[in-house]
Amino acid sequence: MSFKINRRQLIGAISGVSLMGFCGEKSFSAQTIPAVASNSGRNFETEILVCGGGPAGFAAATNAARLGRKVLILERYGRLGGMGIHARVWPLMGGVNSPFVKEVHAKIGGNGFDPERADLYLADFLEQAGATILLHAWATEAITDGNRIVGVKAISKEGILTIRAKLVIDATGDADIALAAGVPCEMGRGGDGLVQPMSIMFAIEGVADNAKYSGSEESARAIKIGDNETWETVTTRAQKNGELPATVGVVRTYKMGRSGKACVNATQINGLFGTKVEDLTQAELECRRQAFRVVEFMRKHIPGYENIYVSHMPAVIGVRETRRICGLEQLKREDLITGRKWDNAIVRGARFVLDIHNPAGGGQAENQDQHQIQGSAAQVKPYDIPATCVIPQKVDGLLVAGRCISGTHEAHSSYRVQNICMAIGTGVGVLAATALNDNTIPVEADMKKIQKILFP
Ligand SMILES: Cc1cc2nc3c(=O)[nH]c(=O)nc-3n(C[C@H](O)[C@H](O)[C@H](O)COP(=O)(O)OP(=O)(O)OC[C@H]3O[C@@H](n4cnc5c(N)ncnc54)[C@H](O)[C@@H]3O)c2cc1C
Repeated sequence: MSFKINRRQLIGAISGVSLMGFCGEKSFSAQTIPAVASNSGRNFETEILVCGGGPAGFAAATNAARLGRKVLILERYGRLGGMGIHARVWPLMGGVNSPFVKEVHAKIGGNGFDPERADLYLADFLEQAGATILLHAWATEAITDGNRIVGVKAISKEGILTIRAKLVIDATGDADIALAAGVPCEMGRGGDGLVQPMSIMFAIEGVADNAKYSGSEESARAIKIGDNETWETVTTRAQKNGELPATVGVVRTYKMGRSGKACVNATQINGLFGTKVEDLTQAELECRRQAFRVVEFMRKHIPGYENIYVSHMPAVIGVRETRRICGLEQLKREDLITGRKWDNAIVRGARFVLDIHNPAGGGQAENQDQHQIQGSAAQVKPYDIPATCVIPQKVDGLLVAGRCISGTHEAHSSYRVQNICMAIGTGVGVLAATALNDNTIPVEADMKKIQKILFP
C-alpha cells in the first residue's frame, strides 16, 4: 500500500501528533523500508578481529595493525574508550612500563584526559594504523570449527554481520566471546561468588574555587571540612543515619581540569551481576537515584558544594567485575604482592593496589574488620603479566585482553585499571600480529621478538 501525505496530516505532524508513515511531502510505500533482517548477508573477512573498543581492545587493534596485519575492531556502542567514556570512569589509573601507554597519554592529555574528546583521539590511532572500526556492532556469537574459533557474528541495525578472522581477540571486558566459544570462565570471589559492586560515576559543576576534593587515599579521606570533622566522618554518619544510601561509605570527588568541575565516585550496588539483564536494569536505576542523593548530601554538608549540579550523567552503569577466563596460567594475589617476574611477560612493571570495593556492603573489602577505615587497599610490588594469562584453555585462535584475562578475583582488582588494561591490550596486539607474521600460533610465538617490540 502507498501513502500520500495531505495538508491535514501535515499540520497534525507539525503540531506534534504522531503520524505513521510521515516522510516529508514525498509519497512512499511501506514495503520499501527494509526490516531488521535476521541475517543481513553482510560478510567481512579480516586477519585479526578485536571485539570491544575499550582501553584493551583499542590498544590491541592499534598495535596489531601497526605490525602490518589487517585488523577490524567491533564496538557495541557509538564511542570508543570503554568504561572511561561510556560510564564516565575517570581518571586513568595504574602505572606500567609501556611506551605505547606513554604515547597515548601524550595525545589524550595524560591520566586526566578529556572524556568528551578522548574517544576521537583513540579513533585517530586506529585509523592511522590502518585498522577498520565498526561501531554499533554487538558481537554475540562465536563461529567455531572444532575447537578453533574462526569468526564472530554480531548484531547490528542491519541485522546479523558475519566476520571471519584468522585470530580473534576478546576485549569485551566480560569475556563474551570466550564464553560463547567454549572457554571455561570464572566469576566472583571464592566462597560466596560475589563480585565488586557496580557504580555510576558522574560529573558535577559549580564547586566553589576554594572547596576541597576528597579521594579514596588515606590522606584525601582525612581532609578536614569543618573545624573538627573529616569528610569521611561526616560521610560515615550520613550513611549510618540513612541520609546516604547504606552502601555509600566514601564520597570521592576528583577535580576535572576546569574550575568548578569534578567527577564523583560514590554510588554502589551490591549482590548484582553485570552479565544479567535484570541486574543491570536494577543497577542502572538504583545508582542513578543514589547519585542525586549524594549530590543533595554534598550541597548540604560540604562547604563550597552548595551550588553543585549534575553536569554529566553517563549513559551506562560502570561494571567493575564480571567473567575471567581460565587461561594457561592464572595471575594470583601472591604474584602481585611479591612482584613476580615472568620470562614470557607481555606487560612489565604493572603497579596498582589490590582495590576490592566491598562485594557485600560499603567501602573496601580489604581490612573489613577495621571498617571505619573505608577505602583501604593492599599494596603490590611492580609485577609482570605473562602471555599465558591471555591465552585461553580449550579454544584455539583466540586471545583475551583487558579485565577478563585469567586471574583471581584479588589479582583482577589491581590489573583492571585502565592503564594496565591498555598495556595488556598492547601486549596482546603485538602477540597476535607477531604470531601471524611468523606463521605460528600465539602459544609458540617468539617471546624475545615480542618483548623487543613491547619494551625496546
Ligand atoms: C565505577 C568504576 C570506577 C572505576 N574507576 C576507575 C578509575 O578511576 N581509574 C581506572 O583506571 N579504572 C577504573 N575502573 C576500572 C576500569 O574502568 C575498567 O576495568 C577498564 O575500563 C577495563 O578495560 P577493558 O578494555 O578491559 O574493558 P572496558 O573498558 O569495559 O571496555 C570493553 C568494551 O567492549 C565493548 N563491548 C562489550 N561487550 C561487547 C560485545 N559483545 N561486542 C562488542 N563490543 C562489546 C564495551 O562497550 C566497551 O567499550 C573503574 C571501573 C568502574 C566500573
